[in-house]
Amino acid sequence: MKKGLLVVISGPSGAGKGTVLKRLTKKHDGFAYSVSVTTRAPRPGEEDGKHYFFKTKAQFDEMVTRGEFLETAEVYGNFYGTPKAYVEKLTADGLNVILEIDTVGALNVKRAFPEAVLIFIMPPTRAELTRRLTQRQTETEEQLKIRLGSALSEIAKTGSYDYVVVNDTPEAAASKIHAIVVAEACRADKNRQITENF
Ligand code: 5GP
Repeated sequence: MKKGLLVVISGPSGAGKGTVLKRLTKKHDGFAYSVSVTTRAPRPGEEDGKHYFFKTKAQFDEMVTRGEFLETAEVYGNFYGTPKAYVEKLTADGLNVILEIDTVGALNVKRAFPEAVLIFIMPPTRAELTRRLTQRQTETEEQLKIRLGSALSEIAKTGSYDYVVVNDTPEAAASKIHAIVVAEACRADKNRQITENF
């Protein structure tokens, strides 16, 4: 069976990643989400193995020592990691595996797996991003400024990404991501086995 692709998706909060990815996986077969390992406590409603694999810091450290992560990150004092064996099993089963991680994690994945496809989802305009973040009404003026600032600094780090998808509508953005994955799977360098053994 042909291996699936590693599809890394990043984008600032307010870009609408979640909605786009839901459209993508609902409309198209052959995609699977990577479930990360975390040391943070489960939130109400979160299930082990579905939202995250919940581990103690000691268990996490052991996994690091054994080289079981594709990449790790520390966010607000908690540790997160993408489990290598899990991702490898899914791709070996022919599934395109979606990793929804930040720009730092994405570049680490690209270093370890140059064949990974890095896609950055952009809000359509700066005004629209502000509107989406303001609409949530969960943030103070100060928090909004911080979110906008971190969105702009993430956008500035997209130079190493393979693709940028502007989220004008979730439907169109999901179609573009699907088109990218189909094209990537047809790349000559990803099909040497077929062409050389024909
Ligand atoms: P939360 O605790 O709210 O679920 O996630 C906090 C942050 O950690 C989010 O920005 C999320 O994208 C990031 N994150 C979750 N899993 C991973 C992972 O495996 N690797 C990296 N680099 N970041 C992750």
